[in-house]
Amino acid sequence: MRSIETCREDFPALHQTVAGGRPLVYLDSAATAQKPRSVIEAEARFYERDNANVHRGVHTLAVRATEAYERARRAVARFIGATDPACVVFVRGTTEAINLVARSYAQPRLGPDDEIVLTPMEHHSNMVPWQMVAQATGARLRYVDLLPDGTLDLASYERLLESGRVRVVAVTHQSNVLGTINPVREMAERAHRVGAVVVVDAAQSVPHQPVDVRQLGCDFLAFSGHKMMGPTGIGVLWGRRELLESMPPLFGGGEMIREVGLFESTYNEVPYKFEAGTPPIAQAVGLGAAVEYLESLGMEQVRAHEQRLVAYALERLGQMPDVRIYGPRQHRGGVVSFNVEGVHPHDVATILDQEGVAVRAGHHCAQPLMRWLDVPATVRASFYVYNTPEDVDALVRALEAVRAIFGAGAKPR
Ligand code: PMP
Repeated sequence: MRSIETCREDFPALHQTVAGGRPLVYLDSAATAQKPRSVIEAEARFYERDNANVHRGVHTLAVRATEAYERARRAVARFIGATDPACVVFVRGTTEAINLVARSYAQPRLGPDDEIVLTPMEHHSNMVPWQMVAQATGARLRYVDLLPDGTLDLASYERLLESGRVRVVAVTHQSNVLGTINPVREMAERAHRVGAVVVVDAAQSVPHQPVDVRQLGCDFLAFSGHKMMGPTGIGVLWGRRELLESMPPLFGGGEMIREVGLFESTYNEVPYKFEAGTPPIAQAVGLGAAVEYLESLGMEQVRAHEQRLVAYALERLGQMPDVRIYGPRQHRGGVVSFNVEGVHPHDVATILDQEGVAVRAGHHCAQPLMRWLDVPATVRASFYVYNTPEDVDALVRALEAVRAIFGAGAKPR
């Protein structure tokens, strides 16, 4: 077991100074996580020793590359409790995974009498693909209400399911803005009672808490490698085998075929029928190394560490009278969105950057949620295993600098 207390050493990018000599305080892991040396080295080693294309060669390197790629698939399956690695489809990221389900599973099945249930806290990537499906099929989008604390109103969810028309429920496991952890398991149980399939956006949960698809009971799970310390350009769609088998491929080309004729072709089995062309091989290898790294920390410990950090951040930020925090106070993930009264979030983020503190300001690809919060944007600090209480202190100190420049509690400009 590797210790979270000392794991910071494993991340080369964290050991640098920015903004004229200030130590970097990286609080933007919800956008993308930093990479441990083992991931960087796994990818480099692949290129140095094993680089070849997969699945279509008999030479030594091709066999090694194929084995490394498939080993990564098995590691990912194990990590999310999937018994069948063939149900792990490698894609570019969460966005592509959800688009694949929307286009290939939902679009051919839905019509004007059908409904898709979403929540207002979805990332655009779990909203826009469903809008496209609704436009193409005439299906109707319905939204679960939010309670004032930024959690889902489950009574409104129940009412939506009563229509008898709901075919798809697409929900984020953990909000990238509010930190809300949604009761996906209960939601899936209820959705299944009315015959709907459940698509879970796990971009913010798989990297940060134990996720087991058998326990969650969902039908599809989408997540990105780069948010869980893996490389960019690789992500995962996990789906129930019978559903994946029933879906037509989205892209045609090499690798995804069994037999090609001049006018028609037959397709490969899952997952290969969804992996047209040369896949992101080195990235898959890097993702496999990221999975091993997270396993060596223990996902329970990862979650516990973030819970401690977020509790401390809520306490410290909560003591600042001009800081408004969004989202629930309990049972939440390691992101804290807030605004400083009277100061535009982009100005806050710019000043924090001058203090060496990297946060994100903007709508976080959740414009409907911003409208619900009635703000144009928020500042978001997000935590991961390598963050410490001292990072929270640095954030608070940097916010004092914001106050000093703008004046505490200044009126909105
Ligand atoms: N869903 C959520 C909740 C996210 O936070 C993100 C990334 N910000 C995405 C989806 C999209 O992930 P990607 O850009 O890696 O496809």
